[in-house]
Amino acid sequence: MEQVNVAIVGGGSTGLMAAYYLAKEGVRGIHVFESKYLGFGSTGRCAGGVRSSFASNVHVTLMRESIRNWLRLKEEVEGLEFIQDGYLWLLTTEELVELHRRLAAYQNSLGVPTRMLSAEEVGELVPLARSDVLAALYDPTAGKASPIKFVWAMRKKLMELGVNIHEYTFVRGIRASGGKARSLVVDESNEVRVDDHVLIAAGVWSKELSRDLGVEIPIKKDPHHLLVTDKYSPFLRPLVIHKESGSYVVQHETGSILVGAEFPVPEDDTSLRYGYLRKAVTIMSRYFPQILSAELLRVWVGYYEVTPDHHPIVDVLPGYENVLIATGFSGHGYMMAPIVGEEITSMMLDGRPKLAETNELRLERFDEGKLLKESAIFG
Ligand SMILES: Cc1cc2nc3c(=O)[nH]c(=O)nc-3n(C[C@H](O)[C@H](O)[C@H](O)COP(=O)(O)OP(=O)(O)OC[C@H]3O[C@@H](n4cnc5c(N)ncnc54)[C@H](O)[C@@H]3O)c2cc1C
Repeated sequence: MEQVNVAIVGGGSTGLMAAYYLAKEGVRGIHVFESKYLGFGSTGRCAGGVRSSFASNVHVTLMRESIRNWLRLKEEVEGLEFIQDGYLWLLTTEELVELHRRLAAYQNSLGVPTRMLSAEEVGELVPLARSDVLAALYDPTAGKASPIKFVWAMRKKLMELGVNIHEYTFVRGIRASGGKARSLVVDESNEVRVDDHVLIAAGVWSKELSRDLGVEIPIKKDPHHLLVTDKYSPFLRPLVIHKESGSYVVQHETGSILVGAEFPVPEDDTSLRYGYLRKAVTIMSRYFPQILSAELLRVWVGYYEVTPDHHPIVDVLPGYENVLIATGFSGHGYMMAPIVGEEITSMMLDGRPKLAETNELRLERFDEGKLLKESAIFG
């Protein structure tokens, strides 16, 4: 291959969704370059949760639209799963209850039908074994989508749409002149001409590619653990968060249970820690003792790509009119991928995103000190 129209660097959820919406618009010559295999990065290591119960206008609005896209994708892409079983935020202090009451009202004002549940109502929704839950925020439009199914389904769909996928193909750098990217240097020395656009969707590694072009992006690699059990008989439909500790549990359609917990480790340290296992299992099994009867299958670490305000960067790279960047999703990029892929498509084809909120994700906000705010985060 010597020439491409659109080069997408990164075969995670962001790159795959951008390729999908571009192909649907009739764009040809789309090439996805992935240094390992599709889903190797954060995408293949995530919990598959999808929600719009956030605290910022940008997140709630984009996720409201992204969930609409997830519902359409489920119809359009064979094998892609999205199960709208909701999110349940367990609240164990009066302060958290009050905060989430206000959040629910805010989310409702943006068209997201979250609601507060009493302790009794929580007990009707999930089999709680502990009685310190005062109330919960329930997000009925939220759901779960297996990342493994997503990657395989998208691979097949993109190939049917004529998208070219190059796995084990490392992009060493982007060559630019006159304010435009002109080519990619692929693997050892192969130079590929780019006629239209480049999308940097390389997760935490986007930083190196943009730095090569002289643009610093403020994201840090924040390692997070996750465990998965073997299949267990179904007992839990919504993804459940214990907000006070930042722990969560989700049971996927296969029966596998995933348990995550806030367990800070130094940047770039991807060693497996017993402390995480102890914390995650201890807290969530108090509420759901089923976790202790399930067989532990695997534990792994993946990165949250964290920005200073926990919002992503979706922008044209300053100084390069045909280079776009989409990264820094801070722990929720998988769920955002369908709307971000669509917005990237609009930015490439129409010169601007469809939603005004996407403009707030520009890179300059960090230099200008116009940081966004998000408090509804965990894990
Ligand atoms: C434990 C855990 C749980 C999570 N849970 C959720 C969740 O429930 N819901 C949610 O929405 N998000 C969740 N996330 C976050 C989510 O996984 C990420 O935000 C999202 O997957 C980012 O996708 P991406 O495509 O932007 O990046 P990635 O998936 O990281 O993809 C980037 C790809 O680029 C490739 N690449 C890098 N450099 C190059 C190069 N130079 N050349 C070619 N290829 C390159 C990498 O190999 C990688 O495959 C979780 C993350 C973790 C770690």
